[in-house]
Amino acid sequence: MEEEEEINRMVRVLLSGGKMLSKRCEKCGAPMFELKGKELCVACHGRERSGLEVVSDKLLSKAIEISEKIEGEEDPKKLITDLEVLKEILELIKHLREMGVR
Ligand SMILES: [Zn+2]
Repeated sequence: MEEEEEINRMVRVLLSGGKMLSKRCEKCGAPMFELKGKELCVACHGRERSGLEVVSDKLLSKAIEISEKIEGEEDPKKLITDLEVLKEILELIKHLREMGVR
């Protein structure tokens, strides 16, 4: 039933001019679509997200933000601080995943 709904959403996105991308949703593994310049996952899109899923999302974008910072960081002290924070965030994400939060 849920799968059928997902297919219906895919069809709707395609009919409204969207296209399927080669990458997959990092939350649920479903194929990503591009619609009007925006990337979306038809499986996650339109689905009510729980509070913890929102937290998990925010943690993930913070982790990405920090890892991008690390790339250009030349001060070893700051680098270590960033890595510590990143490690904590990744631990939290891991816990959430273990709880079944995607
Ligand atoms: Zn998804």
